[in-house]
Amino acid sequence: MSRGFDEWLTTQLDDLEREGLKRTRRVVTSEPDAWCVIEGRRLRNLASNDYLNLAHDPRVIAAAQDALRSGVGAGASALVSGRSPWHEELEQTIANFEGTEAALLFPTGFAANVGTLRALVAPEDTVFCDRLNHASLIDGCRQSQARMRVYRHEELDVLERELKRSTSTARRWIVTDSVFSMDGTLAPLSDLCDLAERFDASVIVDEAHGTGVFGELGRGVCELTQTEHRVAVRIGTLSKAVGTLGGFVVGSRKLVDWLWNAARTQVFSTALPPAICAAANAAFQIIQAEPQRRRHLLAISQQLKDELSSLSGWSVVAGSVGPIVPIVIGEPTVATAASKQLLEHGLLVPAIRPPTVRRGTSRLRISLTTAFQSAEISELAAVIRSIADAAST
Ligand SMILES: *Cc1c(COP(=O)(O)O)cnc(C)c1O
Repeated sequence: MSRGFDEWLTTQLDDLEREGLKRTRRVVTSEPDAWCVIEGRRLRNLASNDYLNLAHDPRVIAAAQDALRSGVGAGASALVSGRSPWHEELEQTIANFEGTEAALLFPTGFAANVGTLRALVAPEDTVFCDRLNHASLIDGCRQSQARMRVYRHEELDVLERELKRSTSTARRWIVTDSVFSMDGTLAPLSDLCDLAERFDASVIVDEAHGTGVFGELGRGVCELTQTEHRVAVRIGTLSKAVGTLGGFVVGSRKLVDWLWNAARTQVFSTALPPAICAAANAAFQIIQAEPQRRRHLLAISQQLKDELSSLSGWSVVAGSVGPIVPIVIGEPTVATAASKQLLEHGLLVPAIRPPTVRRGTSRLRISLTTAFQSAEISELAAVIRSIADAAST
């Protein structure tokens, strides 16, 4: 490599180190019931999106093993020859689960967001994007080359003014996460749909952290807020509560037919492994048959938030609901130190720092799963309280 390139890499990494923002890589072995092993130490895993503990469910594993008999890799994109009977069955399961005409699989949730936005939003359109949206939505909006307007969902009057002003645009889109992944708060979907209807915009919702967790049937925040029929495009991932891997889009048959032809991240990328589709299919059966999993998850999540409600100096993000429990600390070095102390107590809780969150809002981010029981939640709250007390004195 050129000397300039090598020096540039050195400077970049040194800068990150100095600001307390350098991330190191480690190896984590995942075990059932929210345990994991790092460098020989067995830890409670409070850093997983496997909210319903389905990644280790014997029924999910058995379904994958069964499908492995027809090979590991799909061998080609879905369009060419990679769409197996397991892909077709899973798409049918997802469409039934979501109550839509059709569903389309993508290699990941990231790919679903980028590919869908690029295929739907045109350069002459305007896309309104929440400031807290996931990186994949932001990248998809950028790739579309549309005019991009970033809004704060706490200030919908500003969004309203911007919508009113956007008269010269071809089409308008409002794009949002349903659950903001670093805050654990919900998007105001009813209000966004009201605005969309007033200004002839279409709403696109990413349910990455909503699927399997929220709503009576576990479909997500659109179900919870009764906005499913008002949202034009719903996107989800199979890699969080579903416990596997992959992304999906649900909506009308026409929408899916168009994305099948036009979504580049799906057309030009190899289809999911059939065993993953079989596993996800089994996971959806469990999500539908065992609603007590999500009820328990929401109950322990609320318990933890209640028990952390008056921490000295630190605070749980206001309005957060569900298994993501972010505790805002401020400085990245303090957040990292707190994460290290939790590790000494056998608890894996990541410190989230810029650029993932804004400067001055570095935080601990707990994600709970159904493996935790009420007594352990109280113990966890006590440990965090003691660390917060020590840090504030
Ligand atoms: C995790 C996440 C994604 C990406 O999903 P993957 O399947 O992991 O690629 C997209 N959007 C949001 C909001 C997420 O949290």
